[in-house]
Amino acid sequence: MLLRMSSLFLRTLRDDPADAEVPSHKLLVRAGYVRRIAPGVYSWLPLGKMVLENVTRIVREEMDRMGGQEVLFPALLPREYYEATGRWTEYGDTLFRLKDRKGADYLLGPTHEEMFTDMVKGEYASYKDYPVTLYQIQTKYRDEARPRAGILRGREFVMKDSYSFDLDDEGLKHSYERHRETYIKIFDRLGIGYKICFATSGAMGGSASEEFLAPAVTGEDTFVACHHCGYAANAEAVTTPAPAAITGERPAQRVLDTPGTPTIESLVTYVNEHHGLNVTAAETLKNIVVKVTKPGSDKPETLIVGVPGDREVDFKRLEASLAPGEPAIFEAEDFARHPGLVRGYIGPQVLKGLGIRYLVDPRVVDGTAWVTGANEPGKHAVDVVAGRDFVADGTIEAAEVRTGDACPVCGSALSIDRGIEIGHIFQLGRKYADAAKLDALGPDGKPIRVTMGSYGVGVSRAVAVIVEQGHDELGLVWPREVAPVDVHLVGTGKDGQIEAATRLAEELEARGLRVLVDDRAGVSPGVKFKDAELLGMPTILIVGRGLAQGVAELRDRVTGVKEEIPIAEAVDRVV
Ligand code: ATP
Ligand code: MG
Ligand code: MG
Ligand code: MG
Repeated sequence: MLLRMSSLFLRTLRDDPADAEVPSHKLLVRAGYVRRIAPGVYSWLPLGKMVLENVTRIVREEMDRMGGQEVLFPALLPREYYEATGRWTEYGDTLFRLKDRKGADYLLGPTHEEMFTDMVKGEYASYKDYPVTLYQIQTKYRDEARPRAGILRGREFVMKDSYSFDLDDEGLKHSYERHRETYIKIFDRLGIGYKICFATSGAMGGSASEEFLAPAVTGEDTFVACHHCGYAANAEAVTTPAPAAITGERPAQRVLDTPGTPTIESLVTYVNEHHGLNVTAAETLKNIVVKVTKPGSDKPETLIVGVPGDREVDFKRLEASLAPGEPAIFEAEDFARHPGLVRGYIGPQVLKGLGIRYLVDPRVVDGTAWVTGANEPGKHAVDVVAGRDFVADGTIEAAEVRTGDACPVCGSALSIDRGIEIGHIFQLGRKYADAAKLDALGPDGKPIRVTMGSYGVGVSRAVAVIVEQGHDELGLVWPREVAPVDVHLVGTGKDGQIEAATRLAEELEARGLRVLVDDRAGVSPGVKFKDAELLGMPTILIVGRGLAQGVAELRDRVTGVKEEIPIAEAVDRVV
C-alpha cells in the first residue's frame, strides 16, 4: 500500500478541538483520523479507518483462532426479543428506542444476548451440537448519559461481542477460560497495557466476571491491585477470597449484637419510607424476591435476592439472575443457613443499582466496616468489606478504598489506579437460556438447559485507549500492528528530494511495506516534520538536503532516536 500526502484525504489541525477533554480525543481530531458528527457519534477518515480496520483484524484473527464463528446481526431490532427478558424496560434511558411507520417498536442494539440465544435455538436441537461460540464485530448503540472523550465513550461504537453456549458448568468455565486467554493475546497484540480485574464479588463465584482495565489517568473505572500476590479488582468489587465463601470453610460470620436483625421486610420498609419508592418483598417457595418500582416507571421489576435452601442452587440462581454489569452482592450461604433473613445484606451496590441513596456508618469493628442497613440504626448488615462496600456518600466514585489498604487475599498494601474498560468476560449462566427456553435434547431424551457466557471487546474504544497510553507532546505514536502504515517518508526540498522520496516509497511498497510519502510540493519542511510526528507512524524516513551526499535520516517515532543512513541501504534498514 502506498499513500501519497498530495492526494490523501487528510487535513491536520494546529489547535485542539474546543470540546476535547482527553489526549486521544484531541490528537485523533487534530491528526485528521476522526470527525465529530454529534455527541458520542464520530466518523472515521481514511487514516482512522485504517487503524480501526487493523484493530478489527487482530480481534477477528484471535477470535477465529479460538474457534469462534463470526456472524452478523442487524443493529435495528424489534422490541419483542428484549421484552421477553425484561431489558426493553430495564435498560432505561440508555436504550435507543424508535418506531417504524406502522407504529411498531424497535431498538438499536446495545448488546445482543437475546439475539444470539434465539439464533442458536433456531438452528441447534441436540446435545451433540454443543458447545458453540459465536461472535460478531458490529456497531452498538447506547444513549450514554455522559458521552465524553470522543470515541472512548461513544453513543455509537464498535464492539466485538461473543457468546458461548455449553451444556454444563465445566463447559462454561472452559469457554470462559479460552476467552480470557484470547483477550490476553488480543490486547498484547494491540500494544495495550491492562490489568485483569475481578468485576463481581467473590461470593458470586470469584471469576464469574472479569474486566480488562487499561490503566490511564483518564479512566472512569477505579481498580485496586496487589503487587505482592497479583490480586486485582474493580473498586466496586473488592472482596474477600472467593473459595472459602463458596465451600463454606470461611469462619461463621459474626452477627453484631444490636437490636433487630435486618430482614428483607425491614430494609424494604425503610427504603419505601425514606425514598418514596414502592418496593415489596416476598418469600416465594423458591426465591426471596424484591420487587422495585422505580420513580417514573409503572412496571415493577423483580430482583431475586436470595434462595432459601440448597447452597448450590443459590449460587447458580443468583448468577443466572444477573445481567452483565448489574450491580449486586449477595452472601448466598447466609440465605441458605437462615432462610428468610437478610443475614448477608442488601449492600450499597444493590441499593445504588436500585437508584437508592444511603448512608454508611464508617465504624470499623475488628477490621470489618459495616453498613447501617439502609440507614436505620439497629438495622444493619454485617460482614461488609471495606472498599467493596464501604462508600462515603452513596456514590461509587467515593468508594473508600485507599492506597495502602490491605489486600483481601494476602494482606499486602493495595495500590489504587484509574482504568478504562477495554474488555469484559462474563459467565452468564442460564438467564437468557431460561428466558428463551433454550434446551438441548440430551442422550436420554431429556432436555438440558444451555448455559452461556458473554464477552465484549471495545473495538473502537481500543483505538482511543492505544492513544491514551501511547502518545507524546508531539502527537500520536502507533504500535506497528495497528499503525495505518509502517513507514512515513518525507521529501523536503526542491532538488529532486520529493522524487527521490517517492521512488524510495515505491521500492518499500514493492517489498511489502505499507508506506505514506509526503510528496506535497510547496509545503515547508517544518510543516512536514510536524505532520509526521502528529500522525504517529512507527518509522519516519526523511529525504532532504542529505540527498546530494546520498544520505537520509531515519527516525524511530517510539524511541525518538534519529540516525543518518545511506539512501542505498534505506530499503534494507527499514524492511
Ligand atoms: P463502561 O463501564 O465503560 O460503561 P460497560 O461495562 O457498560 O462499559 P459492556 O456492556 O461490558 O460495557 O460492553 C463490553 C465492552 O464494550 C466494554 O468492555 C467496553 O470496552 C465497550 N464499550 C462499552 N460501552 C462503550 C461505549 N459507550 N463506547 C465505546 N466502547 C464501549
Ligand atoms: Mg456502560
Ligand atoms: Mg463497565
Ligand atoms: Mg462491562
